[in-house]
Amino acid sequence: MPDDTHRRHGFRTRMSHAGRAGVRIHGFVNPPVHRGSTVLFPSCEARRAASARRFEQVMTYGTQGGPTHYALEDVIAEIEGGSRCTLVGTGLAAVTLPLMAYLRTGDHCLMPDSVYGPARAFATTLLARWGIETTFYDPCVDEAGMRALLRPNTKVVYTESPGSHTFEIQDIPAIARAAHAHGAKVLMDNTWGIHSFQPFAHGVDVSIQALTKYVGGHSDILLGSVTVNTEEDHLIVRSAASAIGHYASPDDVWLALRGVRTMPIRLKAQEAASIEVARWLEAQPQVKQVLHPALPSHPQHHLFLRDFTGGCSLFGVVLQPRYGEADMVRFIDSLSLFGIGASWGGYESLAIPTTGFITRTAGTGDYGGPMVRIHIGLEDVADLIADLERGLAALG
Ligand SMILES: *Cc1c(COP(=O)(O)O)cnc(C)c1O
Repeated sequence: MPDDTHRRHGFRTRMSHAGRAGVRIHGFVNPPVHRGSTVLFPSCEARRAASARRFEQVMTYGTQGGPTHYALEDVIAEIEGGSRCTLVGTGLAAVTLPLMAYLRTGDHCLMPDSVYGPARAFATTLLARWGIETTFYDPCVDEAGMRALLRPNTKVVYTESPGSHTFEIQDIPAIARAAHAHGAKVLMDNTWGIHSFQPFAHGVDVSIQALTKYVGGHSDILLGSVTVNTEEDHLIVRSAASAIGHYASPDDVWLALRGVRTMPIRLKAQEAASIEVARWLEAQPQVKQVLHPALPSHPQHHLFLRDFTGGCSLFGVVLQPRYGEADMVRFIDSLSLFGIGASWGGYESLAIPTTGFITRTAGTGDYGGPMVRIHIGLEDVADLIADLERGLAALG
């Protein structure tokens, strides 16, 4: 379909049609999986000419991607509202790739205190070893606060909104204004806000997605993406990916393409279910606070309303301070429909401890009681609530 018509369609329509280029291969609805390392050329000159354009979705060698990768790159760029996307093997690789691409020895990086744990670990181990210093800042910093954090050598302001496990919504436009006035790049882990937060419209330069989550949707693939909105940023990210040797399996990419077709309705159903469960939890005497950005009780709900068009199904629960960590563990262990495990975005509900598993160093660490992270899947809400009710009753 022509590009301009395409842009007027709704999200569900676009997710049905994006990345298929209107082409039916042998009449089939879905494009095939293209696997390959060697790409053959009719002549040395043809190979040289193709290689010169290898960052432009031109096939030269398996590591530079093939048609299956390029199809998903286009779909993710469309979801994020950016121009170009680079796929990598995991969400964590999508976090580390732009940090390596934009930082060099002697630079300073700013990361929110609520950043995804492995991103923090990357900064405090490898980045530190390479002579790059990271300061962890209060995620709720305002524009003036961000200006005060910037140093002459600050090159990257990393953001993640809402924060991992503790769900602080960041004022991304304010942070981006301060960073850009300083000449720093704004990187954002936008996994939670996939589709509902448009990073480039809010001042982000580089948007990171763990496609492992809602795009995959079935807890059976690992995949990440780095999306940008200028050719200059694309060259920086893509050439770094190429230099490091990043690659994503075409089979996983194909599964992500399939996941994308149903993602809009899964997201909508899971978001609605999570709000229902979150509201129910909020009313229980054993619960001190529910940290779900879509609830009016969330401390940054106003920013959520201003910048997001919706949410997803991952949120936090703070139990009353009279309970300890052992009670929280007993609560989780007593649930039968909630799996105990990492990751999220799949069709199954999950619950894991937050207390004892997160690091906070910018004075934002006291949440007033033991915390649990809940992911709501596609089960019946009544069954999930009945399960949680039994679990809370076990707390006494
Ligand atoms: C899961 C996650 C990642 C990493 O994704 P993987 O594919 O598991 O490596 C990155 N950021 C956030 C916010 C995540 O939740």
